[in-house]
This record gives sequence, structure tokens and C-alpha cells, in this order.
Amino acid sequence: MQFHHHGYVSTDPRVEPAAGVGIDRPDELPENVDVLIVGTGPAGIVTAAQLAQFPSVTTRIVERRGDRLPIGQADGIQARSVETFQAFGFANRIIDEAYQITEMAFWKPDPSDPSKIARAARAVDDPTGISEFPHLIVNQARVLDYFAEFMANSPARMKPDYGFEFKSLQVAAPDEDAEYPVTVTLVHTTGEHAGQERIVHAKYVVGADGAHSAVRESIGCTMAGDQAFHAWGVMDTLAVTDFPDIRTKCAIQSDTGGNILHIPREGGQLFRMYVDLGEVDPSDKGAVRQTTLEQIIAKANAILHPYTLDVKDVPWHSVYEVGHRLTDRFDDVVVEEIGTRTPRVFITGDACHTHSAKAGQGMNVSMQDGFNIGWKLGYVLDGRSPESLLSTYSAERQPVAKSLIDFDKQWSTLMATRPEDLDDPTELEDFYTRTAEFPAGFMTQYPPSMLVGEASFQDLATGFPIGKRFKSARAVRVGDANYVQLGHHHRADGRWRVYAFADAAASGEPSALADWAHWLQTAPDSPLLVHSPKDRDVDSVFDVKVIYQQPHPEVDISRVPPVFLPKTGPFGLTDYEKVYGIDPAEDIFEVRGLDRGGVVVVVRPDQYVANVLPLSATDELAAFFRTNLLAR
Ligand code: FAD
Repeated sequence: MQFHHHGYVSTDPRVEPAAGVGIDRPDELPENVDVLIVGTGPAGIVTAAQLAQFPSVTTRIVERRGDRLPIGQADGIQARSVETFQAFGFANRIIDEAYQITEMAFWKPDPSDPSKIARAARAVDDPTGISEFPHLIVNQARVLDYFAEFMANSPARMKPDYGFEFKSLQVAAPDEDAEYPVTVTLVHTTGEHAGQERIVHAKYVVGADGAHSAVRESIGCTMAGDQAFHAWGVMDTLAVTDFPDIRTKCAIQSDTGGNILHIPREGGQLFRMYVDLGEVDPSDKGAVRQTTLEQIIAKANAILHPYTLDVKDVPWHSVYEVGHRLTDRFDDVVVEEIGTRTPRVFITGDACHTHSAKAGQGMNVSMQDGFNIGWKLGYVLDGRSPESLLSTYSAERQPVAKSLIDFDKQWSTLMATRPEDLDDPTELEDFYTRTAEFPAGFMTQYPPSMLVGEASFQDLATGFPIGKRFKSARAVRVGDANYVQLGHHHRADGRWRVYAFADAAASGEPSALADWAHWLQTAPDSPLLVHSPKDRDVDSVFDVKVIYQQPHPEVDISRVPPVFLPKTGPFGLTDYEKVYGIDPAEDIFEVRGLDRGGVVVVVRPDQYVANVLPLSATDELAAFFRTNLLAR
């Protein structure tokens, strides 16, 4: 963590100095805003947290509840989300309080007496080391709290505006040339103004208002997908039980066809059971929601036979009904308008895709939507990128949601199939292990676009596939001999990362790296000179790091090109955290398949690999950034 470069910080360094709209931020919701986010669920809060790093942008996030979410909803946190928490600075704290999934047990009817269940298999949760981060269980409310804290500590000093319900919006025609083209009608839900309307004008609106999204309706998007919904009785439970795997994640199938997804929860005692209530036809008209807690407990006991649950307390329960549903676009630009205008309204999270609880995707994929749209809005509104950048949100995220839904359908169908009806008795656990990378959130690969280069030089860095998230690996910081995960230094600060993996020469010797570094620092077409604002630190848009092929004692920091030792802040202090050597025990060049002739890996602000280029391809690097960034 870096601080003090603007002067001595004696209090919590996570609280960044207020800047821009964060200085004297009004408590009252203003009449005009740059971005209005509707809903403080995972999708909305991540968008807001990211935009809180852009103090030139007035962002407000409204929520119809009067206060924070206290309890309930999702709890499964995939490793990709924990990587994201690292970027927002709270991975370690949330790991400390969470339950960590390391194994999953599969319980099936006992072949010798099918009226009883017996453990049939165990599967390691991450057998191939997809991520150095764990798979966690922790309540959605805590995740939201951490993001809200990050927002409040960010330069824009954001906090949610509780007690406002979104009702409708209207987008002015482009030829009206309105500064704030989206007119939003809100209604106060709490306090002395409850029931009264409130109009807010916005440049952009993000609908993160959940599965029954009113923003979605207002832009004429409809959800398509399953007619029937699947229902689960979900209960967060404190109970005395003789079921031996009560502290292990389990898929439990009984002989009668009933099944449970059992999830131990944070804190050591609590657990969540999703008791399958089956498919629900729309003509059911909500009857399934009349299922009582007592009925859910009775069904759980029947499935667990011969084991019993003596339920002592149920702090939260719900009948959770969800279908696999998806909208065909995630913004307000209809097909006929594509190419004629850029979007003004976006929908994220459950507002545009819903998943079954069984694959634990809802909260995770929603957060990645928020991470994707957040920095793009920040870039456009801060004048760093053209408005066309905003069209990449729907183009990138809609196909991801679709492929997750396809995966989720397969997984939920398998879980609901009676063991004797499966082609292979181990099909369920095999599928779980084989597809682990998918639900963990790492199969997303964005196609070539203005933000993602062609894979022309992919063979120079086979372990950093273009379009996939940057998979961290170890390196050693030369300045202080610290063994670090390179990717963990990628903070959600809206900056691009440019990693220069050096050719074989030592620091200071003539080399392809030295030529590249000189070009980057001095050439008129260098992205550093073309796209970094002159009144900000030289690394305000690009965080450029070098990784030498030598172990750190062999890297002479006094001979490293100055572009990797930038001088920042009001005192012009040297930043020593951009120069790395290899960890000989885990050479990053080996583990990530990096060419010994050197290679440049470009990573987007949301941690996805945008391009891989040789050190000599300076024209291509400059041209790549000209497609997505404006000259400053
Ligand atoms: P949400 O988390 O739904 O957040 C939407 C927010 O918008 C809410 O805070 C809501 O109050 C607010 N809002 C809605 N309409 C308006 C409006 N008109 N104006 C202002 N604010 C508005 N997923 C699982 O994986 N496992 C589960 O067990 C599970 N259980 C769930 C139980 C319930 C009761 C619900 C509602 C969802 C559950 N989910 C579960 C789904 C999971 O929580 C979602 O996939 C995830 O929260 C999606 O995030 P989101 O930000 O898109 O939407």
C-alpha cells in the first residue's frame, strides 16, 4: 500500500484525501448528476465504488430501502470475486471472517438401503489451483458493507442515498443536445417526504435494481428464458445435528428425488440449506411462496434421513424462485439504433440475467458487470475515452451472462436428476471437478474490440490469454526484496497496467527493454505523453512496471530506465514499487509462458488482459491506445 507521497498520513491510510466532487459533497441528492445508479445490491455498489475513484464525476446511488441490507440473499463468493475484493482493498479482511470451501461432499442413497443417504464422494474444490484466492461463503450484506466503506473512503466520498424508489425515466432525443438527457422520476420511500416525487437529471443511468427491475422495463428490455421457475426453500440455520458433514459443502440427493445444497456459513456454526422445491409453473401464481419454514425443515429432515436436524434458530429464510433468464441487450440502444448513438442507460446484474442458486453465480457475475461498466463511465465522463467505449459494456457482458446460464442449466439439471437416472453414477462430481474454472469466474474471455487486441502475438505470453483476466504470479520487488503477487498490486483505481517483461540483458545494458522504455518516456506517440493529463502524476493513467529475468539481487536499481522509477506527488518522490525480479522458486517467465526475448502485457482497469505485444511493437501499442483513449 502506498501513501505519504502527498505528505505524512497519521490516520488510516485507506481513507484517501477527498478530491473534486468529494470535497464538500452535498448530503442532499442533487438535481443534476453525471451518473445515477439505481440499487445498492452487488452490481450497483461495485459500479459506485469504482466511480468513487473518479472525483471529477458526480455519481449518486439511490436505494428504495431506508438503510443497508441487514441479512439474507446470496452468500457464495467465487475466487474471481475475491480477486476483485483485493483490487478494492478488502480481500484479506473478508477472507478472515468468511467460511472457506476446500472440498465438496456428494451424498446419495445408500446402495445397501436406499432409504438412507450415504457419502458417495468428495471432490477438492480447486484441484488445479485456478486462483491463489479461496472460494468463500460470506453474506451478501457484508460484501456490500465493504464496498460501501471503500466508496466512503475514496476521493469522491460517496455514500448511498437511501429511501428513494426509481419509478420511470425518459431519454431526450440526441438532437435535443441536452446536457443531462436522462430525466428520472424517483419517489421518497421514507421520512417526512415519503410518497413525494423527486426528479433527477442524469447524463447516464445504471439500473442495478434486481430481478424485477423497473429500469429494465423503462428501456423496453424484456427477460427471455425459462417459462417455469425453480423454487428453493432457503434457510440460514443454527441446529443440533448428527449429520457428519455439517461443516462441509454438500450436494445431497435422496432416494425420493428430494435434494439439498448444503453450505456451511461464516462464524463456525451457521449453515444454509437450499431445499429443492422443484419447478414452478407460472400459473402457480406465487402459491409456492406460501411454503412455510416448518415445511422446509420437515423436507430437509426427510432428505437427510437417517440423520436429523434439531433446528434451534433460523435468522433468515425465504422461498427463492428463479428462472434462467436473460435480456438480449444490456443498454438502451435498440438494434435499429446501433451505430447511430451511444447508450445512456445500462442494466446490470439480476436486472438483465438471473441464475439458479445452485451454481452460486448471481452475486458474482453481477459484481463483474459493475466492475466492467464502472471504469468505462469514469473514463468517458473524465474525458479520457470516447463515448463509443460505452457500447462495449453490453457487447462484452451479455455473452458472458448467456454462457453462464448455459452452464448453470447443465449443473442444475444434473443436481436435480435421480442418481439411478444418470448415465454414469459419478457424473455429478465429475462435472463439478471438470468445470471448476467456469463457476469460479475465470472462463470469461472478451473478444477483440476497441479494448481487446487481436491475439497476433499471444505465443509470446501463453499464460496471459488476451481477453481473460490477468492471472497473477509471484515476483520480487527489487526496491525492498518483497516477494509479492504481481496481480495483487492492481488496485481498482481506474488505471491501466502495462507490464514490460524484459529481454535477457541485465538492467542498464543495451537491450530491447531499454529501447522500449526510452520510447515510452520520450517519443511523441508514446501513450504516456499522448494520453496522460499534464496536470496529474505521470502514472495517473498508466501504471508501468518492469519485470527482469534475473533474481532481484542481480537487478541494479540505479541502472533501471527512469520510466520505471517515476517521480510523483507534490514532492516529486521516486516510486520504487514498479521494478521487479523473478522469484527463482516460481519464475514468472516459466509459469506464465513468457518469451525470453521480452514482451509487453497490457491489462485493463478491470483486470482483463487487453493486449500482448513484442517490445519492438511500439507503433502497435500506440495505435491500440488511440482506439480507446483520447489525447489529453
Ligand atoms: P440485488 O441484489 O437484487 O439488488 C437490487 C437492489 O436494488 C436492492 O437493494 C433493491 O432494494 C434495489 N431496488 C430494487 N428496485 C428498486 C427501485 N425501483 N428503486 C430503488 N431501488 C430498487 N442468489 C444466490 O446465489 N443464492 C441465494 O440464496 C439467493 N437468495 C436470494 C434471495 C432473495 C430474496 C433475493 C432477492 C435474491 C437472492 N439471490 C440469491 C440472488 C442474488 O442475491 C442476486 O443474484 C444478486 O444479489 C444480484 O445482484 P444485483 O445487484 O443485480 O441485485
